Amino acid sequence: MCGIVAYIGRKPARELLIEGLRRLEYRGYDSAGIAVLDGGLTVVRAVGRVSALSDRLDKQTDFDGTLGIAHTRWATHGTVTEANAHPHRDDKAGICLVHNGIIENYTTLKRLLEDRGHRFVTETDTEVLAMLIGELYEGDLEAAVQGALREVTGAYAIAVICEREPDTLVVARKGSPLMVGVGKDEYIVASDPSAIVAHTTRAFPLEDYNVVRLRRDGIRTSTIDNTPVTPKMMQLELDLEQAELGQFQHFMQKEIFEQPAALRNTIRGRITPHGDSIVLGGLTRYSKELVRARRMILTAQGTALHAAMIGEYLLEDLARIPTEVEYASEFRYRNPIIEDGTVVIAVSQSGETADTLAALAEAKDRGALALGVVNAVGSTMSRETDAGVYLRVGPEIGVASTKAFTGQVMVLALLSLYLARRRHMSRERCEWMLAELASVPDKMERVLEQADHVREVTLKYVERENWLFLGRGYNYPTALEGALKLKEISYIHAEGMPAAEMKHGPIALIDDGMPAVFIATKGSQYDKVINNIEEVRSRGGHVIAVATEGDTEIAQHARDVLYIPDIAEPLSPILAVVPLQLMAYEAAVARGHDVDRPRNLAKSVTVE
Ligand code: GLU
Repeated sequence: MCGIVAYIGRKPARELLIEGLRRLEYRGYDSAGIAVLDGGLTVVRAVGRVSALSDRLDKQTDFDGTLGIAHTRWATHGTVTEANAHPHRDDKAGICLVHNGIIENYTTLKRLLEDRGHRFVTETDTEVLAMLIGELYEGDLEAAVQGALREVTGAYAIAVICEREPDTLVVARKGSPLMVGVGKDEYIVASDPSAIVAHTTRAFPLEDYNVVRLRRDGIRTSTIDNTPVTPKMMQLELDLEQAELGQFQHFMQKEIFEQPAALRNTIRGRITPHGDSIVLGGLTRYSKELVRARRMILTAQGTALHAAMIGEYLLEDLARIPTEVEYASEFRYRNPIIEDGTVVIAVSQSGETADTLAALAEAKDRGALALGVVNAVGSTMSRETDAGVYLRVGPEIGVASTKAFTGQVMVLALLSLYLARRRHMSRERCEWMLAELASVPDKMERVLEQADHVREVTLKYVERENWLFLGRGYNYPTALEGALKLKEISYIHAEGMPAAEMKHGPIALIDDGMPAVFIATKGSQYDKVINNIEEVRSRGGHVIAVATEGDTEIAQHARDVLYIPDIAEPLSPILAVVPLQLMAYEAAVARGHDVDRPRNLAKSVTVE
């Protein structure tokens, strides 16, 4: 999920690799490492910045190899420690590799390899792949890599070297980007073109299941089944900043568009092969207590609080557990009541939010079982909770949270179904829900295809200073999140509320042309939402509706309609929020604001 750089050529690899890692730093990571082959293998790793790694390397002057691999890790499996940082090695054949992504079936493979006598020294999924390649190695690194990749499921970009083959680098990809830069008698491979363009502009991207064997005198590309492949060469742009962002203008925009891929990672390996149940490794130890929970309290701040509110609907509706949501800042000072069987779940992107950490400490002091729904592996929150589930959506750089929000809702949906199935939900209903859940990434791609239409609609209203966001049921929190996104980056005043609350007061605000965004997807409260739309419309408000594809009625009620694919109602917020994220983004761009660095905001709020 984070960064890879690898080199084979005639220049000393270490400086080149470190410089490449520096170019990938903007992506965010938690540790870094490098391996260079020079007679023997030198591996150096460090927790923290690339500069920490580089300082360590400076102390070791005794290697100068021209073949090496390097990595910035953004942990998904195993805490942030030097031992878990890449490169990882096998214990038999001198294999050394770096990996981006997630090996889904690593537990099964690990058991098998342990039975064959392999001893693991890290907590990562990646080490399993190193061991597997070592196990299959019979004097041909390329063949061993192909063989191993035929056994794994999941996502990977890898770069592999072997002490016994000092002139070979093997790289491969499935579902995680990797590109080979072609120089004169040298190749530089990276997960991101920004690490390549400084050396060469001739490059080719690997397709899924491609394996490339690189030697100084030439390369060979094949599939994992060893069918030869002809790579498609291309010319890279020289603009480094642009290379980092790819086709996008801002990180927030990139992260909005990354959501389908990010959510595939969230789900990866967590649905049983038969599709009838859920595996959440982090919760296994507390499974019994969770299934018997009498009450849940979700606590968070900001966008994560909105995800938690959807979590409340999910946990009550699907798992039938009484649930409350509370601002962490309030919870911590409120003298909260924690009884036997109360579970407190903290939700946070960074895992460092000061208020949420304090709420967690308060809950633990009072005897609650504390869980975390967190993105950053190894963060304070992930250490201070009894157990938890990671989002695995990758580092989020844009200050306004997008993919972490959908990741949080997805994890809370997984958690609700995990508990529902163990408490009462029938196999058939769970299977159906899980199929719906697995369809989210593809459906979200369809929502994103309409980004141009969202822009056109947004531009019609972008001059207005006051907006409303309204929804009911599962999409009431979606409305809150839509309003928050608009406030955060476009500085437009927006209010989100339950659609039915309007007539109890806020309806007085509506004047001619006031934009009112309704989440009016097909669901149990559709007719009620239409009534609320009419209340706004008859007072001059301009209604923009987020509605379900195929709804022919809605266009009679709304001035503008943004359609999303049909999906089980409990999951509808994950899709419905996407047009709202895009609206906020387009409004901020149109108003000329710095989208990735909005005024007055910090990415993670580590003060009270
Ligand atoms: N799953 C691997 C780990 O946790 C790779 C993470 C990454 O892509 O940086 O170590």
